Amino acid sequence: MANDISFLTGINDPNLKMDKSGVENTGNYKVIHLVKTGTCYCPVCGRPMLKNGYRRQPVKILALPIANVPTILLIRKQKYICKPSSQCPETVTKIAEINGINHGCRIANNVKQAITLDLRRNESQKDIGEQYYVSPSTVGRIIDSLEDNFTPEKSWLPNTIAFDDFKSGRFAPSGMSMILMNPVNHRTIDIIPSRTSRAFRQYFYRHFTRRARLSVSLVVIDLYGPYRRLIRELFPNARIIADHFHVVVQAYRALQSIRIKTMNHYGPGTHEYRALKRFW
Ligand SMILES: [Zn+2]
Repeated sequence: MANDISFLTGINDPNLKMDKSGVENTGNYKVIHLVKTGTCYCPVCGRPMLKNGYRRQPVKILALPIANVPTILLIRKQKYICKPSSQCPETVTKIAEINGINHGCRIANNVKQAITLDLRRNESQKDIGEQYYVSPSTVGRIIDSLEDNFTPEKSWLPNTIAFDDFKSGRFAPSGMSMILMNPVNHRTIDIIPSRTSRAFRQYFYRHFTRRARLSVSLVVIDLYGPYRRLIRELFPNARIIADHFHVVVQAYRALQSIRIKTMNHYGPGTHEYRALKRFW
């Protein structure tokens, strides 16, 4: 069962089990009823705590949509108690916590991660929010919290780095920010709030040693030009390559424009027009 839950929700917590009511379809959204139990150790004496019933209200957590249907987890949480003893002078109580859901947060961590990754697709906060059934201001808060999550090591940069800009709304004065990534392991290294050349240069001189910059041998960037000279200055040992995502987008656009030109050349009502319109 635990595997099914991880398969459905992407949340890997072996002590998260399906509840009696299972999965419910309300028409507008899916509800997955879960129970979180398992052994819990006392934070004071370290011994296993006694199970003490369940929290009265199940917690409601937003999960990743399943087949484009918004999905909510209703989780009944086990309560625990450690009664006073010689090792544990006072009564200690706890409520089960869930791997992959932060305490007090109503959105699963993997939803926040998916939103962070989608930022590079350059959609508005509203569009991204709609996709995950959260408000644009929630997307904004997730962006705001990114800055605190990254404290890059000053003296080190990976061999290969990648940049991408994304719409960040009120996070940056220009509304656009840069994301600095390690494309090999797909980890985000840092968020650069502004994407102006000046901010970009300042950021690297301020945050990384010369040695760290010299160690970079490959920079992956979109096809947009202006940063290239700056990248040569900042990473003199690096070769610059175009991000395959951007190459694919360019090729796709070029193909689309030829398709439409060809369609119009034959004119509506012709076999060629229909073929290119419907079966392209
Ligand atoms: Zn205890």
